[in-house]
Amino acid sequence: MTTPSTGYRKPIPYVDEVSKTYWKGAQRGELLVQQCKGCGQRQFYPRPLCAKCWSTDLEWLRCSGQGTVHSFTLTYQNGQPGFREELPYVFALIDLDEGPRVTANIVGGKPEQVKIGMRVSAAFDWISPEIRLLRFRPV
Ligand SMILES: [Zn+2]
Repeated sequence: MTTPSTGYRKPIPYVDEVSKTYWKGAQRGELLVQQCKGCGQRQFYPRPLCAKCWSTDLEWLRCSGQGTVHSFTLTYQNGQPGFREELPYVFALIDLDEGPRVTANIVGGKPEQVKIGMRVSAAFDWISPEIRLLRFRPV
């Protein structure tokens, strides 16, 4: 499948009742995570309840978008349409300054220069008329 307006060929994220606030934030270029009003735990990805205490009393916290690379893979081979055009690419675990760990591609700059502990900043790219996907760029 290809998104006509963007040429994006990878699977498009599914927006549901729980995640729709996150995706609205992404459209504005804002990185939102959930924060539990009961225990203070912050979490990503969006869930209907707190992963620590199971409370359903959650609020949304706008993050700075700043984070640190916890780990990553550098992929040189992938034959799937949509992926092979972006080789080599970096898929990483990013520890946000606000706490939660998120997964995303690191784009911009040379993939071989990505390092554990490197500072990165959130960026959002439109992949369809409704979806703006989280990525990170080296700071
Ligand atoms: Zn909690």
